[in-house]
Amino acid sequence: MEGNLIYLDNNATTKVDKRVLDAMMPFLTNEFANANSTHLFGVTAYEAVKTARMQVADLIGSEAHEIIFTSGSTEAINLGIKGVAENYFIKGKHIVTVVTEHSAVLDTCRHLETKGYEVTYLSVTTDGLINLDELKNVLREDTILVSVMLANNETGVIQPIKEISDLSHAVGAFFMTDTTQAIGKIPVNVDSLGIDLLCISGHKLYAPKGVGALYVRQRMNRIKLPALLHGGGHEKGMRSGTLNVPGIVALGSACILAQKEMSKNAESILSLRNYLESELLKVQGTSINGNTSSRLYNTSNILFTGADSDAVILGLSNPESDLPLIAVSNGSACTSASVEPSHVLLAMGLDETAAFSSIRFSLGKFNTTNEIDIVINAVKNVVSGLRAMVN
Ligand code: PLP
Repeated sequence: MEGNLIYLDNNATTKVDKRVLDAMMPFLTNEFANANSTHLFGVTAYEAVKTARMQVADLIGSEAHEIIFTSGSTEAINLGIKGVAENYFIKGKHIVTVVTEHSAVLDTCRHLETKGYEVTYLSVTTDGLINLDELKNVLREDTILVSVMLANNETGVIQPIKEISDLSHAVGAFFMTDTTQAIGKIPVNVDSLGIDLLCISGHKLYAPKGVGALYVRQRMNRIKLPALLHGGGHEKGMRSGTLNVPGIVALGSACILAQKEMSKNAESILSLRNYLESELLKVQGTSINGNTSSRLYNTSNILFTGADSDAVILGLSNPESDLPLIAVSNGSACTSASVEPSHVLLAMGLDETAAFSSIRFSLGKFNTTNEIDIVINAVKNVVSGLRAMVN
């Protein structure tokens, strides 16, 4: 499949880097011990987890003991939001988030509403950014948590995180940010950005699915979270369950690679994304969804007026065509089972038809100029074919 695939859906998931695979392989084979076993075999696994914890911490400028390994961002988000709600309800029961958050945050907040918490969902402007004055106005003495994603998975739009954390701290609320899409792509430092909780997902940064982490601030503004999963008391009692040593080693390795290669990857991916975007914007009736100056360099969400995105996606992955299959998306892969229009694009003011005519291209470090040339031609052909059929 792979030789015949051009993959521009890296915000949904990424291919495991061969070097990451090599790093984790011994822990799937010969070094299979439980990291909590006290024999020498177990100590090797324990040491590998310890190293990975430091590698993850290094990438975000935290201390190793502030990293809790999880199965991914969804679990980290649940642990963070529900944990703050459960432990800090004496201060208040008010939480603030944004309408364009990922469903992992929105659904967790909706769940808490059924338990007596009050959630304020901030709106966004047409370019996907929140309005800081609106945030200022909704913050209260009883606000315990503000959760605003750093970069949006559908549009790549980057929120003003430092300003948001300053405003949150001014009322004594913790600040959590969903950094699933940002980690490994752009520098994220928990101290300079004033972050109390953040989530990491291995499969978004060239590690496998099923591993991730929650950063929980322990310095300055110490946060105590209750467990979601009860059991053996692993991860300081916050996340019980035998540690996924191979996955954790892979995550650590992916974080080190991301740190070392971030600027090189950023430069090449940005140049490919800009080339793709400038060529596709030459097609009539196209525009970019989302702010273009505060945006991840790998993401381009483009509205192709008059072309249904499902039909474009199918047209680009036609097995009968001589062209490679081209993988792009129209919304979050996590909600792809639904036929609803993107809640992110609707919140930015697009109507349903426009939301259903928008395509997300998300590039990664393995893409080449040759691939982008093929995609440009294919998209132009598919879109003009579809428009001709409709007219
Ligand atoms: N948050 C964002 C912004 C995402 O893009 C995703 C995955 O698509 C998630 C959370 C959930 O991550 P995971 O697949 O690790 O649970």
